[in-house]
Amino acid sequence: MAKGKFTTGKYDLVVRRSRTGRGLFTLDPIESRRCIVEYTGRILSEAEEYTSKSKYLFAVNKTKTIDGREKTNIARYINHSCRPNCEIDIWQGRIYVMAKRAIKPGEELFYDYDTEYFNEHIRPKGCKCSKCSPDVR
Ligand SMILES: [Zn+2]
Repeated sequence: MAKGKFTTGKYDLVVRRSRTGRGLFTLDPIESRRCIVEYTGRILSEAEEYTSKSKYLFAVNKTKTIDGREKTNIARYINHSCRPNCEIDIWQGRIYVMAKRAIKPGEELFYDYDTEYFNEHIRPKGCKCSKCSPDVR
């Protein structure tokens, strides 16, 4: 796999109001398969993985979890969708958000959160994504 695949693009990304609070939107068109942004944060110790109350934990693999709560990590604003336009790719212990298809300017970015997070935090309240709740505006 070429490293160039994981060079994040210089896309103009903005945080705006979305149907579920705040979301991350692109002002630029993004081609399919392009690397959009990296999900960054502090690597937690094993003890912290069990005690952290952060809502922005991201399990990179079995032994590495990142806390992406810092506001400089704009990828933290990307919401869940069951019909996403982005997907996660992990490469060399780092987390990248990739375009799953061509994305138009003004579109909100989404990826499919992992099942554990979905079952714990989203399913109990009901999923608000456009596929599950098409009437929510
Ligand atoms: Zn959904």
